[in-house]
Amino acid sequence: MSHVAFPIVFGIALLVFVGTIGGRIRLLATARPARRFDRLPERVQRTIVYAFGQKKFLTGEQPAGIAHALIFWGFVVLGLQVITQFGRALSVNFNIPGFGPNQLLGPPFFVARDLLELVVIVAVSYMLYRRLVVHTPRLFGLGRAEERYRGAPHWEGILILVFILFIMVGGLLADAGRLVWLDIHGNEREFAPLTALVADIIGGLGRSGGHTVSEIGWWLHNLTVLTFLNLLPLSKHFHIITAVPNVFFGELPPKQVARKPGALQTPPAGVARLEPPPTGLTGIASLADVSWKQVLDAFSCTECGRCTAKCPATASGSPLAPRQLVLDIRDRLYAHPAEQRGAVAGAAPLISEDVLWSCTTCMACVEACPVGIEHVPTIVDMRRSLVDQGRMEPLLQQTLENFAKQGNSYGKSSRMRARWTKGLDFTIPDARTEPVDYLWFVGDFASFDERVQTASQRVARILNETGISFGLLYDGERNAGNDVRRVGEEGLFEMLVEHNMAMLRDASFEAIFTTDPHSLNTLRNEYPAYGLDKPVYHYTELLAELVADGRIKLTTPLTGTRVTYHDPCYLARYNRITDAPRKLIAATGAELVEMPRHGTNTFCCGAGGGRIWMDDSKLEERPSEQRIREAQELGTIDYFVVSCPKDLAMYSDAAKTVGASFEVAELTALVERALGVAEPEVLAAPAGRER
Ligand code: SF4
Ligand code: SF4
Repeated sequence: MSHVAFPIVFGIALLVFVGTIGGRIRLLATARPARRFDRLPERVQRTIVYAFGQKKFLTGEQPAGIAHALIFWGFVVLGLQVITQFGRALSVNFNIPGFGPNQLLGPPFFVARDLLELVVIVAVSYMLYRRLVVHTPRLFGLGRAEERYRGAPHWEGILILVFILFIMVGGLLADAGRLVWLDIHGNEREFAPLTALVADIIGGLGRSGGHTVSEIGWWLHNLTVLTFLNLLPLSKHFHIITAVPNVFFGELPPKQVARKPGALQTPPAGVARLEPPPTGLTGIASLADVSWKQVLDAFSCTECGRCTAKCPATASGSPLAPRQLVLDIRDRLYAHPAEQRGAVAGAAPLISEDVLWSCTTCMACVEACPVGIEHVPTIVDMRRSLVDQGRMEPLLQQTLENFAKQGNSYGKSSRMRARWTKGLDFTIPDARTEPVDYLWFVGDFASFDERVQTASQRVARILNETGISFGLLYDGERNAGNDVRRVGEEGLFEMLVEHNMAMLRDASFEAIFTTDPHSLNTLRNEYPAYGLDKPVYHYTELLAELVADGRIKLTTPLTGTRVTYHDPCYLARYNRITDAPRKLIAATGAELVEMPRHGTNTFCCGAGGGRIWMDDSKLEERPSEQRIREAQELGTIDYFVVSCPKDLAMYSDAAKTVGASFEVAELTALVERALGVAEPEVLAAPAGRER
């Protein structure tokens, strides 16, 4: 019967599939272009590591991550099984050429198939248990922004898992029944222990019984595969088709400026660079502005909720949840494809403004997403359109005006920028008039905020003692533009870059260092596109190096001092700088106690992406306060150590609000104490909140 019936069923299923997938391909084909065909060898490499190697699943939340990786690998090998079973509609002894029982690849395939069938059956059963019994929270909607999702039925996920189970069990029964029916021995039994075991169990039914079991298993397997195939483009399981290309076409880290031999090593950056909007476009205002990569992102979401579970905006009760954002874009694409072709005028905004302005651009969502979805560039693209229309909070509007007039967020005169140096008993060279080895790009906070100026003076004193050659741009420096760009003000960003690049071209130096991770990010990853060809370091990298080669001697170890360290997002996640600050802390002799979320898994302070210039009074609990509570859970610690000027301000404030039992300290305060030159009081951050 299968000779006649199956080709008909197969043909119908294929036609329906081609029709549905055609609609999805049209959505991709009519989207705005994206530059994602460069650096192909690197793309292949990342696809091997992240898609086929399942790196994020294996290093993420367990045991769900391992279960998913096993299902994925199971599918890759079992693709061969599907072809074999389809082929058996034509001949009961069909095998893929080379994979026959007495051919080279046959025995290894039988072993792998049996092993993976078993593994996938166990993994899928575990996944069903999580959905039906444990009710893992992230699978059922998180935070205020996912209330709609929380109420949604989850039959789709359960149905697909049952289908996967049917495919595995069906294939197993088809093969085992066939061994009995055709009385097969040799490699097909010897190298397939699970199939042989099932064949032994049903052996008592005799050859005709084996035939029946084989037919039932074969139809169960093949019909489920065809139904499954047609459900894919209609469900979140479309990612089975789109995830691998989505990883392949993901944003690659910017190429780093080549280091001179002997210079400090720079770790590879994460996904850090933002592309300017294409000519003639000021970001995403509607579906018509969405790029094909953003469409592919929407297709690829597995709805796993890993992004939302890590999002500081969701955790603080804001209306943003990254999963919901991706799903909202996908729903609109599916429901109103004409909008994407610009055929609908005056369509409602794609994502609401309060959602878009809630993002701190911390990148935790992108880091967590196992299928390479890029939430942050999409949010910034949409913000660009809001900025273009002047749709933003008054405080942010005012800050952007300050940037335009004075080149800093404070709106202060450039002449005030280096006033903090007046408190030093030596003069820092002006790199515009005197050649130096290192140019210190100070940044706004460290220049203008009175609380952070103390830390800037400390860095200057420490470096001055080492005798290394460093200088400043003084009033020639402007804000580097990192957060201006992430707010969506591309034009202003370019103005700032233009000014800074003119100053940098006039100065004479070998490398840049900065105390500000935000400045570091754009200088290191985005300025090269504007001509910067010098390496850029964070001051912790420089100090760690100076300690290592003995030019900084920490002779007064802070024995008995317990500290924890907060990794800034723009240092740890965007630029993978996590070791240098820890080496410095270790060198001071203080004991480091890690918070649960540390390194690239850090939790944002809430200030990034321009959030520091927006109202946060409506949040249930600010991210910085949640972070201070996380540190308090560690038991007795003396200092909460930071290495970002914004963090010093944010956490000093949060520690007071929460009533923390520890002090917030800038890392150089520990270093200076270990040098034996500072009084203990210097560690305490001064009071007051200023933006
Ligand atoms: S970047 Fe951070 S704040 Fe923004 S959506 Fe992602 S996790 Fe949330
Ligand atoms: S965007 Fe990525 S991490 Fe978030 S739910 Fe979708 S697949 Fe999971």
